[in-house]
Amino acid sequence: MAEFQALQFRLAGMATELKAARLMVHRAATKLDRRALDRLQACAMAKRFATDRCFKIANQAPQLHGGYGYLKDFPIERYLRDLRVHQILEGTNEIMQVIVARQLLEGAFKSAG
Ligand SMILES: Cc1cc2nc3c(=O)[nH]c(=O)nc-3n(C[C@H](O)[C@H](O)[C@H](O)COP(=O)(O)OP(=O)(O)OC[C@H]3O[C@@H](n4cnc5c(N)ncnc54)[C@H](O)[C@@H]3O)c2cc1C
Repeated sequence: MAEFQALQFRLAGMATELKAARLMVHRAATKLDRRALDRLQACAMAKRFATDRCFKIANQAPQLHGGYGYLKDFPIERYLRDLRVHQILEGTNEIMQVIVARQLLEGAFKSAG
């Protein structure tokens, strides 16, 4: 199947998006280590972005593998389940959005009040 260009494009897109998610997580971790002022926002953005994006990436993997992607004999279905719960764990991704929005609008609320 690897010789099909449409599947190669999909694979390239998945790898690129995985790299982008990793960069977000590394950036947030660096800000946390340095106690940067925007570390909370960076971590909330990274948690939501990485878990949402990686779930989408993993969700394409069973399609690429056909029926084997669904079987417990291979790790793909496990990755998919694990990624799904990380959209919920440690603060749901909606709550991550609440944190980001609150920080973005903090200045607006202060100047209005
Ligand atoms: C496998 C597993 C392991 C876990 N392990 C641990 C653990 O070790 N330690 C621990 O402390 N907890 C653990 N949890 C709990 C986990 O952290 C919570 O499930 C998670 O934080 C979501 O809280 P909740 O289940 O109360 O959902 P709720 O807060 O009831 O949320 C339900 C829905 O409403 C949405 N929602 C809630 N408030 C808002 C809002 N203000 N704005 C918009 N949307 C909102 C949520 O995003 C979600 O979609 C675990 C959960 C699972 C599934």
